[in-house]
Amino acid sequence: MKIGVFSDIHSNLEALEAVLDDASHQGVTHCLCVGDQVGYNADPHACMERLRALPRLLCCVQGNHDYYAANQEELLQFNPIAKQAACWTREHLSLEDRQELARLPLVAHVPLPGPLGGLQVVHASLFQPEEWPYLVDTMSVLNCFRMLQADLCFLGHSHVPLAIVLRENGLEVRDCPEFSLKAGERYLINPGSVGQPRDNDPRAAYGILDVDAGHYQLRRVEYDLPLAQEKIRRAGLPERCAQRLALGQ
Ligand code: ZN
Repeated sequence: MKIGVFSDIHSNLEALEAVLDDASHQGVTHCLCVGDQVGYNADPHACMERLRALPRLLCCVQGNHDYYAANQEELLQFNPIAKQAACWTREHLSLEDRQELARLPLVAHVPLPGPLGGLQVVHASLFQPEEWPYLVDTMSVLNCFRMLQADLCFLGHSHVPLAIVLRENGLEVRDCPEFSLKAGERYLINPGSVGQPRDNDPRAAYGILDVDAGHYQLRRVEYDLPLAQEKIRRAGLPERCAQRLALGQ
């Protein structure tokens, strides 16, 4: 069993197609969606359709952009660019899309065979997930670990790939692209963003968890970035949304 872990797709169909293609070449058998399917880029409905068509999607959790696209609440936590993109997204989703986004759980537990037993998935943090906090300091990380009911949780939100490991002797932050899971260690893993990476690498990011081998790997994939930018401009979305894709910011 090999699980492709996709977060922060953000309506970027070109990036999504590229990572799904790479995942199938890597022998991925199942998929997880860590939230923020929509927002920022130009293909919200098409990305949702693509995810729906995946044969073995184990779970999909709700991100803050999914939540706000699904309702008409005031966009208080959003900066002006995210706000403009979120309003555009609301208008370009079907009623069914919005109903589906509204129904997504904030936290999911996925049972797995083997020593891992299962894992959790949340968009921002297991601690107060409905507030969409960022894991910015030791306290927020420890609060998240405190709520962890498995040895591993996938999360997203920051668009920066990272693994935080909790061991007997403390916390370790890893940006290394692959490692083996060890007994006695607990993990918060962010696979980065498929559709809007912010670690200065414009390539789409996703993770692969090899459940049988107990191994995690971060993957980076080139995609048709100029086409994604062209669609953003044609849609009248903020220019910054197009520019930042090329910068990986
Ligand atoms: Zn996001």
